[in-house]
Amino acid sequence: MSFIEPILTDEEVERYSRQLLLREIGVKGQEKLKKSSVLVIGAGGLGSPALLYLAGAGVGSIGIIDGDNIDLSNLHRQIIYNTEDIGSSKSEAAAERIKKINPGIDVKPYHNYITMENASLIIQDFDVVINGTDNFSTRYLVNDTCVKLGIPLVDASAVMYEGQVAVYMPNNGCYRCLYPNPPEGKNAPSCSNSGVFGALVGIMGSIQAMEALKVLLNIGHIYDSRLIYFNSLTGNFQTLLRKPNPNCPICSNNISKDLKYAEECDIVENKQPFELDNEVKHYEVKPLELNVLKKDKSSYKVIDIRDRDMFNRGHIEGAILVDETNLPQKIEELKSQYNLIIVCQFGKISKHIQKEYNDIGIKNIWSLDGGIINWERYNLPLVKLDKTYS
Ligand SMILES: [Zn+2]
Repeated sequence: MSFIEPILTDEEVERYSRQLLLREIGVKGQEKLKKSSVLVIGAGGLGSPALLYLAGAGVGSIGIIDGDNIDLSNLHRQIIYNTEDIGSSKSEAAAERIKKINPGIDVKPYHNYITMENASLIIQDFDVVINGTDNFSTRYLVNDTCVKLGIPLVDASAVMYEGQVAVYMPNNGCYRCLYPNPPEGKNAPSCSNSGVFGALVGIMGSIQAMEALKVLLNIGHIYDSRLIYFNSLTGNFQTLLRKPNPNCPICSNNISKDLKYAEECDIVENKQPFELDNEVKHYEVKPLELNVLKKDKSSYKVIDIRDRDMFNRGHIEGAILVDETNLPQKIEELKSQYNLIIVCQFGKISKHIQKEYNDIGIKNIWSLDGGIINWERYNLPLVKLDKTYS
């Protein structure tokens, strides 16, 4: 009598029992998942729930690529990490976590970013790609590589209260069909400059895992040919039909030789926050100090360098709004008459600007320590021009 190994072990039958009960999945489907592989690019807010569900469902091989380390500001939405993980590599901490959920799967962490050089090499080994990065250069690079390799891509994004998700199957259009080129540097929204609702990212990342599983199992109606928008404030999902664009620069017959990827802002975004030495600390004004100083209108001028929307939501009385590009000219104009206090949202950009001027010997330019967020922490008054936020 020959001995035949069962497709699933006893432990696997128990582990996946609630999934095996689903008619569309069953033992055959579970076997498919066990033999399949998914690459999650970016182990952040979207990648966290996606990875947890893929591991739980029993996807046999999971790749995680992320070159970042875990930061305290990640934890409100990147639910795969704990407070004690701060400072560790995201890809490695995420890999460790999902191995604990499901020790039977194979997990490959890549502590790296996706680049022109490594994209094809890494992506080619996987059946499905989930993109969970929030910068445009990576989004375009991942899209183009998946098109070239013929690998299904489950793409999503979430900023502030809105998210979108789409599945791009081979030969059925791509991200560039909708958005041929990245937005101009300064117009590109991102979580780090606009904020994001944590639970929203969780929903979008969970949808990505669900769609990837449907693609692997070949069940149901995947979000192919559709683009799903979700507004977490209104609670509405909206479905837009999409078609391949006959002029798409990457997936049509009119492939462009001049594909655009990175815009300035992506490169800046990946840099570490500005570090300052202690001697400059002197030029940082605390919120309570500024609240007193600003009353002397003939000696102090507050310059707010945030965008108009943020300025309208709440700014310091008497502050003037100055676009970063006009800032040098404005400073030149005012610095002989006033002590200037530069204000931004978190106090990092203003600190950097202050230091640049300090380095060339201009001493009457200060920065509001901790920015408007810090000002608000002391419950100091803000002038609000936009009633939506009152
Ligand atoms: Zn396309």
